[in-house]
Amino acid sequence: MSPTEIKILIVVILLVVTQGTWIFLDAGKHGENKWLWGLFGLVNVPSSLIIYLIITRVVTKHIICPHCFYSIKDDSQYCSYCGHEITETDRKEGKLEKINQLKKHR
Ligand SMILES: [Zn+2]
Repeated sequence: MSPTEIKILIVVILLVVTQGTWIFLDAGKHGENKWLWGLFGLVNVPSSLIIYLIITRVVTKHIICPHCFYSIKDDSQYCSYCGHEITETDRKEGKLEKINQLKKHR
């Protein structure tokens, strides 16, 4: 291997590890399967990141935690961020909150 190839390889490895770590941490915060997503993040740059963002931000439904206002998965029992227990009422209100938030952004 030439020195240039080695440099490219190092950059690619750094990118892959950074992406995998970021996805791992982000998935953990959002109550996703962080190990699965983290490993997936190590497979390809940047398509894994794009697929991850599409699935977790668009495909999966989210609600807002009434306690810390963090976006969490629709079917979560507990807030993956602050640990607040999500009741049926919270779920309904959380959904409304999310809709209002989306409207504001438009
Ligand atoms: Zn919370």
